Amino acid sequence: MLYIATKNKGKVKDFEPFFKKLNMDIKSLLDIKEDIHIEETGNTFEENALIKARIVCDKIKKPVLADDSGLEVDVLNKAPGIYSARYAGTQGDDLKNNLKLLDDLKGIPYEKRTARFVCVLALVYPTGKEIVVRGTCEGLIIDEMRGSNGFGYDPLFYIPHLNKTYAELKKYEKMAISHRGDALRKLEKELKR
Ligand code: IMP
Repeated sequence: MLYIATKNKGKVKDFEPFFKKLNMDIKSLLDIKEDIHIEETGNTFEENALIKARIVCDKIKKPVLADDSGLEVDVLNKAPGIYSARYAGTQGDDLKNNLKLLDDLKGIPYEKRTARFVCVLALVYPTGKEIVVRGTCEGLIIDEMRGSNGFGYDPLFYIPHLNKTYAELKKYEKMAISHRGDALRKLEKELKR
């Protein structure tokens, strides 16, 4: 049994098919009685993912997977980065975050709007063994929101070779090219070693 260090049902759903394929059952913090408080005090995606996985693993003495993800925009010196979820000040306000990003990039030409999504997965075992992988997906930040699928910055994140934003992709199409899909495939390789 593998525990995912999240209380987000959507995230658990995203991970489920992947681990099913590997014949692994997963649970999340929603299945644990005690309330585990985690502060993400790291300076990188790797540090934050490891902080989450280590705290939960230490408590429940079972293997724990944690993720940390966000958007890096080159012309903004890789902001919002680890602060992606609260870029505009309020935790998890996707619309506000998107509007702030549009505002910050006002007047910047397309060729300078390069960006990437990053997803780091950290798998920590009670034995102390740790596996950390980083998945990425390159794209451009367009100047208006397009599409209604997904969450977060999906409507602004444009994939040139597909001529679509993340928010215009179906779930399985996004998983095939996304930072999260990339990270999961790298984790699978590590697990099969
Ligand atoms: P967390 O790793 O769940 O804390 O996600 C951090 C933040 O990064 C989210 O709140 C979103 O703003 C952004 N983010 C991460 N992954 C995605 C994605 O696949 N699409 C859009 N936004 C994302």
